Amino acid sequence: MPVRHEALRKAVIETARAMNDSGLNRGTSGNVSARADDGFLITPSGIPYDDLTPAKIVPADLEGTFSGKWKPSSEWRMHADIYRARPEAMAVVHTHSPHATALSCLRKNIPPFHYMIAVAGGKTIRCSDYATFGTQALSDTMIKALKGRSACLLANHGMICFGPTLEKALWLAGEVEALCMQYFIASQAGEVVLLADAEMDEALERFEGYGKQEAV
Ligand code: 13P
Ligand code: ZN
Repeated sequence: MPVRHEALRKAVIETARAMNDSGLNRGTSGNVSARADDGFLITPSGIPYDDLTPAKIVPADLEGTFSGKWKPSSEWRMHADIYRARPEAMAVVHTHSPHATALSCLRKNIPPFHYMIAVAGGKTIRCSDYATFGTQALSDTMIKALKGRSACLLANHGMICFGPTLEKALWLAGEVEALCMQYFIASQAGEVVLLADAEMDEALERFEGYGKQEAV
């Protein structure tokens, strides 16, 4: 029997597999969702991504009501709260990518060491407070860390980001991981010189127009 939103469910599965294939995540850590109807479609909890089929992707509404026999990701609250708080979010990717996770254990914001930090919408990539995985407390501190941003670190846990499409959310997860790796390497090599406020203002301004080709 065909499932509703089959193409979008397949895209959620492809994104989850790509997240692991690209080294951004391992095993059943992390989760992926896409906005659909009045809610979203999310990966089920604890199922290896290679075993996923469209029927195992869980439809949920923003209040946490689910349908079907598969349990949604334990982090459905973070996904639901992003869709509720951020109307521009169409897809959410959560990973335990190595460098983002390592830096999340320092419980510090990633400072403006490189202009690309602007990719997440501001002059820093914030780190949330610590809260147990799967809890509303984690989602609450995440929403604060995401203020004016589309990505944040989750203390002693990993990272989460959102975008206008699944492809863009996965791309942003890769950019955040690369930035965390670069900051980590630079910190090992010496004292990192940060960009000044005005330099970041300029970078943010240029970012607004970056990649917007008239031909597309
Ligand atoms: P789920 O398998 O329930 O999505 O959990 C993975 C995870 O990353 C929890 O934080
Ligand atoms: Zn997690």
